[in-house]
Amino acid sequence: AQDFSEQAAVAFTNARLYERLRNAHRRLQELDQMKDQFMMTASHELRTPLTAVQGYIELVVQYGDVLPPEERADFLEKARRGCDELTMLLSNVMDASRLERDVIIRPALLKRVSVSEAFESVTLMIEPNLTREKRELHVQVADDLSVQADPMRLRQVLLNVCVNALKYSEPGTPLYLSASVYQAPGAVVSIDVTDRGKGIAPEDQELVFQRFYRLEGDVNSPVRGSGLGLYISRRLIEAMGGKIWITSSGIPGEGSTFTIQLPMA
Ligand code: ADP
Repeated sequence: AQDFSEQAAVAFTNARLYERLRNAHRRLQELDQMKDQFMMTASHELRTPLTAVQGYIELVVQYGDVLPPEERADFLEKARRGCDELTMLLSNVMDASRLERDVIIRPALLKRVSVSEAFESVTLMIEPNLTREKRELHVQVADDLSVQADPMRLRQVLLNVCVNALKYSEPGTPLYLSASVYQAPGAVVSIDVTDRGKGIAPEDQELVFQRFYRLEGDVNSPVRGSGLGLYISRRLIEAMGGKIWITSSGIPGEGSTFTIQLPMA
């Protein structure tokens, strides 16, 4: 009887050990997945400004000897600003990493951000594409219009949405940026980014905000993407107390409008 209870005790201990090992293994697998997920998100965030920097440097390398010196200096300055943006992004990415991939926006980071200044810095980033693809950019915003936001994160979202507008529309078609005050229960600012691209059908307008979601026609197209940009954008805007949504008929050529609503400052 003693033997049996000893065996039972050993079996019991083994079972408990096994259970603990299995839990530890499961936890490790989860952490590993989180790490992969985080790497995907981080590289997506970094790719966009990096593309702009590459664009400007390429212009200087290719046309350096025929460019007027001022223009050369201007391109290099823009590349440098892109590097600043990358440095900022990188430190935020590290932040997020420490918080186990959760993008946290501390209330202290929310400040008064001029919408026209945010438009300007985003325009600077996409300027090489606009020129290369012969697109008109129409901007409509009152100088003194400001929102309550984390300036870097707002720029990041605007850049994501603008880059999409260019990616999913034909070269030569225009891009519109506008902002206006909207009197809800409290005063909010609506920022619209409108393209004349292929549009997004009403039934897809929520899906594209899901992580890794890309529309069917885009999955195997040469237009590269990770399906993370809009997911990150919505997370960021909601963390700032705002909303982001799409208006589009889904008819190609009529395009889409991305509306970002944030508290007025
Ligand atoms: P990515 O562009 O990297 O694939 P996003 O999360 O930014 O990822 O966008 C998700 C999907 O939404 C895109 O793959 C595309 O199918 C669709 N989409 C985004 N913006 C537009 C747009 N302006 N016009 C048409 N489709 C769009």
